[in-house]
Amino acid sequence: SKVPPIILNNGVEMPQLGYGVWQVPDDEAERAVATALEAGYRSIDTAAIYGNEAGTGKAIAASGLPRADVFVTTKLWNSDQGYDSTLRAFDASLEKLGLDYVDLYLIHWPLPSRDAYLDTYKAFEKLLGDGRARAIGVSNFLPEHLRRLISETSVIPAVNQIELHPHLQQHAARELHAEQGVATEAWSPLGQGKGLLEVPAIVAIARKHGRTPAQVVLRWHIQLGNIVIPKSVTPARIKENIEVFDFSLDDEDLAAISALDEDRRLGPDPATFDMA
Ligand code: NAD
Repeated sequence: SKVPPIILNNGVEMPQLGYGVWQVPDDEAERAVATALEAGYRSIDTAAIYGNEAGTGKAIAASGLPRADVFVTTKLWNSDQGYDSTLRAFDASLEKLGLDYVDLYLIHWPLPSRDAYLDTYKAFEKLLGDGRARAIGVSNFLPEHLRRLISETSVIPAVNQIELHPHLQQHAARELHAEQGVATEAWSPLGQGKGLLEVPAIVAIARKHGRTPAQVVLRWHIQLGNIVIPKSVTPARIKENIEVFDFSLDDEDLAAISALDEDRRLGPDPATFDMA
């Protein structure tokens, strides 16, 4: 494969770059995921709430790739938190995906006001023990949630998938993850393609390397050690976004991008987000 693996804390290998399918309708997901698999992606990031696990699963089946060659992540939605409801929601996700295991199962949001993530995670530990999830982890956990989870349960999450891009560099979270052996996975790695790809410093670095701004931002993540899951439904961009393993940013480039931190979220604040 074009994409090198990150070794998770339980020894499972996860491609460092994958394809995210948020906001891709189910009836378009099959074609989009098929395009990504053809372009060489071997990791797909979906979630129950995205409503496209079925289309994603169809594309994986139709690809003819051995199951073991594709790394599939899905996420438990907020309204299903709790021990028994998690086990039921997991069954429903597997059914939609048409799979008998997932590679990574994530708690989508911590919902601290509900205080159910410890019970939820205990169900995740059961799924891991039963071999129905090869790795388990969390998403959108703030350092305080992650510390509490680690102190009250027995399996350190393999991954914390958080909003992370040059305008929101998440230094405290990345430091905690490194200390605890949790891999950092960046969602909205391109800053949702909004202003970030027009920032002059990024455009200048792209020109210097003969690359696109999106490739430069993805390469910055890769050199920092982040797992990334850029999303596009445009075939040319899907291909472009995986072509980031044949060039390197130098120290000056990395420093210029690291200087863009504004501590600015595009998505909700995990401390208060409680959408059911
Ligand atoms: P992203 O940063 O990947 O940006 C995607 C957008 O950037 C595209 O819609 C397109 O407009 C633009 N784009 C993509 N490639 C481009 C290119 N080569 N050139 C120019 N523009 C380009 O944002 P995202 O979709 O929010 O995040 C990626 C994935 O992260 C999602 O699909 C999903 O899987 C995951 N995610 C997870 C959570 C969570 O709560 N865990 C939240 C949001 C997203």
